[in-house]
Amino acid sequence: MIMSVFVVCLQFSSNANNGHLLANGLPDSRSRDEIPLGMVGVGGSHKTLIPRRNLSALNQRQDQNSIGVGIVKPGQLVDMSGKPPRYQQQQSGGDPRAINYVGSPDNNRIQVYGDGKAVPNNPSNNNWQDQQQSKTWQNNGNGGNNYYIPALRVVHFDLKGAPPKVSYFKQIFPVLKEAGANAILLEYEDMFPFTGPLAPVSAKNAYSKEDIQTILNLAKTHHFEVIPLVQTFGHLEFVLKLKEFRDLREVDDFPQAICPSRNESFNLVEHIIDQVMALHPNIRWLHVGCDEVYHLGYCSKCMRLDRDNLFLSHVARVARYVRDKHKVIPIVWDDMLRQMPTEKLKEFQLGTLVEPMVWTYVKDVYRFVPYNVWMSYSEVFPFVWAASAFKGAFGETLTVPNVKMHLENNEAWLEVMAEQHKKFSNFRGIVITGWQRYDHLATLCELFPAGLPSLIIDLLTVTQGYFSQTLFTKFHNILQCTVHQRVQVDFETDPHLWQRASSCFFPGSAVFRMTQHHSEAVKRVDDYLYDVTIHKAWMTEYNVRHNISSPMRVDEGLADYSSVYYPLTSLVRTARDALREVFDEYTVAEWIEQNIYPYIVKMEKLWKEATNLKKPKVWPKRPLPPLDLLKKYSVGVINEDDDDLGHAAA
Ligand SMILES: [Zn+2]
Repeated sequence: MIMSVFVVCLQFSSNANNGHLLANGLPDSRSRDEIPLGMVGVGGSHKTLIPRRNLSALNQRQDQNSIGVGIVKPGQLVDMSGKPPRYQQQQSGGDPRAINYVGSPDNNRIQVYGDGKAVPNNPSNNNWQDQQQSKTWQNNGNGGNNYYIPALRVVHFDLKGAPPKVSYFKQIFPVLKEAGANAILLEYEDMFPFTGPLAPVSAKNAYSKEDIQTILNLAKTHHFEVIPLVQTFGHLEFVLKLKEFRDLREVDDFPQAICPSRNESFNLVEHIIDQVMALHPNIRWLHVGCDEVYHLGYCSKCMRLDRDNLFLSHVARVARYVRDKHKVIPIVWDDMLRQMPTEKLKEFQLGTLVEPMVWTYVKDVYRFVPYNVWMSYSEVFPFVWAASAFKGAFGETLTVPNVKMHLENNEAWLEVMAEQHKKFSNFRGIVITGWQRYDHLATLCELFPAGLPSLIIDLLTVTQGYFSQTLFTKFHNILQCTVHQRVQVDFETDPHLWQRASSCFFPGSAVFRMTQHHSEAVKRVDDYLYDVTIHKAWMTEYNVRHNISSPMRVDEGLADYSSVYYPLTSLVRTARDALREVFDEYTVAEWIEQNIYPYIVKMEKLWKEATNLKKPKVWPKRPLPPLDLLKKYSVGVINEDDDDLGHAAA
């Protein structure tokens, strides 16, 4: 099957070693000035974002094609790992097929119990027992419609950023269980206690083997299926950044993907898999990553090889290793497979080797995973997974997720699973991802406790099969809210659930509440700095550079300084204490440095500048000397010997 080409073309301005990079297996006929980043268009990447400035270019191209082709013009820089979650979300109604299908009536939907067994749904019977959890489900608000309940409801722990203390797992697992989770996806990255040749890979604050054993015992207590995730192709920044493993990069400038043509690369992968498997003896699935392998086919060994073949042969080799040696089923992220011809996937027998995890975090799932992809997958794979998100998908530096946007994504996935599951022997379940960083080298995004209200409403929704306001009764109980509000939740006025969950006392709730105080405090700083340094005329950059101002007006500007500055320093203490309940001191310091300290620095800089502005007791005659730095633009170049000083007519 020929799938529609769906491309974002990029140019990288600094690319010393390799010229322009071709990022995936698309035909190579295009200009070498354009870099196809096909996955960006198809599904976005997991954790990366196209800068806002590129959106209009993307959107224009989207409009020209029924399923959307995003083109970033040559010369525009796009994040190499380029994901457009915000861009995805902004797309609405571009794909007529998607619109027609999403929400279309499907009388043949069936329910699936927690063990994956499918039974016809009887519209007249609105109650059923969840056999795994012995909970009675009430059909509230969904009439007699059929709906789909994924068998496995998996919570993703992205430990590459802000890894929780082990004690937090103990607190949070019962909460997740009560909300309907029955599995966890553990993405250790550098938090795993690697040994031997991999010892340098572990972070200095990595979990110990005992820590991991404790986490796994807790998972077992709560009957959670455990799926570890190890990277085996792309997103190996945490390994390839190190001098010990630099030689294994496909592109030396970018420590993201390994070269699949070197034996040492496969040795590395074997070590990673063996060590992680040694601590997980009884698992059924191992997620082997393989997403966003943009650097494929560039090194001297790979450049003449077909990129699809390069990708698939490495994935197949890894999968065979996992199956033969460890007797578990490998899962892969699906983004690299989306554009590949069905015959290609069959040629490499991928359907007998791996189970794809189809991911997208927007509400229009079909826009990024269109029907032809589902058709292709169903011809190749008997088993398939879905991945949604509860946080970490709509902005790399957010502190708290937009609950509505994530809920819409999860609801959309329920519809898609209801429509697509019959094409497969088994739709295994859904992983609700919660990214903590967009990649290993990025700063933190929303922290787990800040996203917990979002996760709980998403879990309740996928466990019920659809969202209804009545879920908030359970929500209040699970999150230990003292005030049970009877009014409906209005996501428009309360997008983060700051109001709804303000009196909830779940593990880590102080972090969640702190994000609201943080938001208010930094807004005050931004408003204040705008007022006194941009809006008003006595503390602007010009005043500071020329050290000229009205001392009285400077004093007026400083009148509100304390009321803006001191809440910030108080916030540091609040944040510190809240974060310490969940995280180690490294994460506490990282979050505060990233999210509060820059505002303190800005405020203290203003104070220092204001102090200097008030020092002069006499002031220079006007005109003030032009800024030297403007001379490179031929501005302010004045011949002092010229009596006219520029006043003469040209
Ligand atoms: Zn290579």
